[in-house]
Amino acid sequence: MYDVKSMKAEEFISDEEILDTLKYADENKDNIEVIDQIIAKAKLRKGLTHREASVLLACENEEKIQEIFELAKQIKEDYYGNRIVLFAPLYLSNYCVNGCVYCPYHLKNKHIARKKLTQEEVKAEVIALQDMGHKRLAIEAGEDPVNNPIEYILECIKTIYSVQHKNGAIRRVNVNIAATTVENYAKLKDAGIGTYILFQETYNKESYEQLHPTGPKHDYAYHTEAMDRAMEGGIDDVGLGVLFGLEMYRYEFAGILMHAEHLEAVHGVGPHTISVPRLKRADDINPDEFDNGISDDIFAKICALIRVSVPYTGMIISTRESQAVREKVLPLGVSQISGASRTSVGGYVEKEPEEENSAQFDVSDQRTLDEVVNWLMKMDYIPSFCTACYREGRTGDRFMALCKNMQILNCCHPNALMTLKEYLEDYASEETKEIGAKLIERELERITNPKIKKTATEYIQNISDGKRDFRF
Ligand code: SF4
Ligand code: SF4
Repeated sequence: MYDVKSMKAEEFISDEEILDTLKYADENKDNIEVIDQIIAKAKLRKGLTHREASVLLACENEEKIQEIFELAKQIKEDYYGNRIVLFAPLYLSNYCVNGCVYCPYHLKNKHIARKKLTQEEVKAEVIALQDMGHKRLAIEAGEDPVNNPIEYILECIKTIYSVQHKNGAIRRVNVNIAATTVENYAKLKDAGIGTYILFQETYNKESYEQLHPTGPKHDYAYHTEAMDRAMEGGIDDVGLGVLFGLEMYRYEFAGILMHAEHLEAVHGVGPHTISVPRLKRADDINPDEFDNGISDDIFAKICALIRVSVPYTGMIISTRESQAVREKVLPLGVSQISGASRTSVGGYVEKEPEEENSAQFDVSDQRTLDEVVNWLMKMDYIPSFCTACYREGRTGDRFMALCKNMQILNCCHPNALMTLKEYLEDYASEETKEIGAKLIERELERITNPKIKKTATEYIQNISDGKRDFRF
C-alpha cells in the first residue's frame, strides 16, 4: 500500500507504514549499534529516511541525544552559517467556513471579531511593517470562497508589492492560504509569490477528520495532496508544517518526513521549509484540552532531528514560542523566525482592544523587531532580511542544487550583511546600530572569497551612501 511516488494521500502517507515505522523505532530505540549506524549516516549530511529518523526520535539514551544535538548544530553551521532570516505574518482576513476545533477562526465561533482588510487597510499594514524594517511577509487568510476568494488574495499581493514607503519595500510575499486548485496555484505563481505554505495540522487521517469536522478542509486527501497541485501549478517552493499537540508527535514526525520524501521523489524537489508550530492558547481554545502537548525538551529534539534528516530544508519558528524556547532551538537548525508578529487582522496599525480580539493565537514573544534584531546579534547571529533567491529566480531545483553542494552560503552570508546594513541605516535604535556595525565589520572579514568580499564591502559602503537593494 505504501508508495512514495503515489499521488494518493493515503498511499504516500500510509498509516500502515507509519505504524510499522513506530514499531521499528520502538524495537531499535535501545539498539546502540543501529543508532550509531544511523548517526554515522546523518554525518554524511545526505539526510535520513523517516524510519531512521524515527529510531533516533524514540532513542532515550542521553549520550546519543547529545551527539544528535551536536550534529544538528554542526549541520546548521555548515549549511546556514550564523544567519537567521526574519519575517512577519500579515493576517488579511479571519473569515473562515471551516470547523477546525483548535483554531478560534472556526465558523461556529460567533463572538470573535471578524475582519477583512480593505486594500487601503492592507496598504496601511504594509507601511507599518515597512516602518519596522520588514522585507518578507507571510500572508494568512481563513478559507472563505465568498469573503476571501482567490481574486481578493491576488489583489492583496499586488497591493503589498506596490507599497514603497520611504526606503521600505516588501520584496517577498509567502502565502499561507487553504488548499486550492492547480489553476489557483498557477495564479499565485504569476502573482510572484515566494513560498506556498500549508500546514498539514496532522497526518493521522482519523484524527484529521475529527479535528476538521466541517467545511472543505474536512477532506483529508484534498488537503494532503495540495502541495502536489501547487507544484503542478508551477510553485516550486512549498512549506510543510504540522501543529504539534494535536496528535502523537512521533506519528507526525514520521508523516512530515514521508511527505518530504514524496515531494522529492515525485517532483525532484523537497520542501523549501518546514514549520514546527505548537498548539497555543487563543480566543476559545485551551491547549490543555488536547492530550498530545509536547515538552520543550521533546520540541528541541524534533528540531534537531528535522535538521539532520533534511539538512537543506529551512526550518521556521514563530512567535508562538517564547524567547527562552527560541534561544534553545535556534542553534539546533532553525533558519527563519518571525519577529514582532501580530496575529490579528489589522494588528500592526492598531493594537486591538480586548473586546475586539481577532487574533488566531496568543503570541509568546512580544518583543519589537529592534529588540529581536538586537538579541540575535548579542548571541552572535546575523539577522537577515534577505529575499535574494526568489528575486534571482533561484527557486525549486536550482535552489536545492546550490543548497546541497553548499554554494548557497556564498550568497546568504553577504546578503545577510547587506540587508542588515539596510535595517541599521533605516530603522535601528542607536544601541542596535552600534552592535550591528561591529558585527558587520567582523563578518566581512570572515568572507573567504576575495571577489565576494570586495563586492560586499563596496555594496555596504553604497548602502551607507543612501543606495539600497543590493544582492548576490
Ligand atoms: S485553521 Fe485555518 S481553516 Fe481552520 S478555522 Fe483556522 S483559519 Fe480556518
Ligand atoms: S540568499 Fe537565498 S537562501 Fe540565502 S538567505 Fe537569501 S533568499 Fe535565503
